Amino acid sequence: MADQSFLFEPQFDALSAAGLNLIAVFELSRLPSDLNQQIKQQLAQVDRRPDRFTRLVMLGNAGTHFWDGLTRFGMEGPHPLDRYSLQLTHQFIDSISAEDDENLMLYPQTDFNLPLQQLGQMAGWGEPSPIGNSIHPTYGLWFAFRAAFLTSVPLPAYTAEVKPSPCLTCVDKPCQTACPAAAVTQSSSTFKLNECITHRLKPQSSCAQSCIARMACPVGVEHRYPPAAIHYLYGASLTSIAMWQKQAKHED
Ligand code: SF4
Ligand code: SF4
Repeated sequence: MADQSFLFEPQFDALSAAGLNLIAVFELSRLPSDLNQQIKQQLAQVDRRPDRFTRLVMLGNAGTHFWDGLTRFGMEGPHPLDRYSLQLTHQFIDSISAEDDENLMLYPQTDFNLPLQQLGQMAGWGEPSPIGNSIHPTYGLWFAFRAAFLTSVPLPAYTAEVKPSPCLTCVDKPCQTACPAAAVTQSSSTFKLNECITHRLKPQSSCAQSCIARMACPVGVEHRYPPAAIHYLYGASLTSIAMWQKQAKHED
């Protein structure tokens, strides 16, 4: 793990206080070659001078703090999480960039396809869990990727220490037994997405506005999102699933 002194305190402190309290900086040239290639190929399609970007920065939220800031920001209008994350990210970029520096947003709300879960593993943010989401060693299932950008600012590389997944020592695995659809199995790769979706779309589903399996996980419970945030997230995802299913039926 690199030294944290690069983190432009107080710039990162301000970002963290507003809710984006996870950061990782990757040197593009030191990424695994397949990942580097994947990013460069996409970049070449949208940018004429891709080589000026040398760092990939990822930002995330962990725990409850983001939601306090989001409530103050306001939930009105479409995609408030993305809009709040982008506002904070642009403020951070402005605070660390000199006039000649250049930056390019990759996530959210672009067509850029980033392997977020893989990058999150490399950043020390967590490993895939049986419910599909990554699990953080401290925050458990209560964190998320919120933004990623490329920059010409020569930031020192920074990642958190990569720790073993808490799932490896979780003997009872309450996420599996709690899931009413038996969608949660031993690993993320065998998660039964169709069973989960079918259960969630049932009238008065017990998983309409929450995930019972996620709530059953004992890791990082003190960092669990506020109830209103959980209802918002799962309500929004249920609406998306219902729309997607309606469209798919229409196209059949
Ligand atoms: S309940 Fe155990 S196995 Fe399931 S996600 Fe949490 S730590 Fe991992
Ligand atoms: S949302 Fe419900 S059905 Fe889907 S994994 Fe969570 S507990 Fe299981």
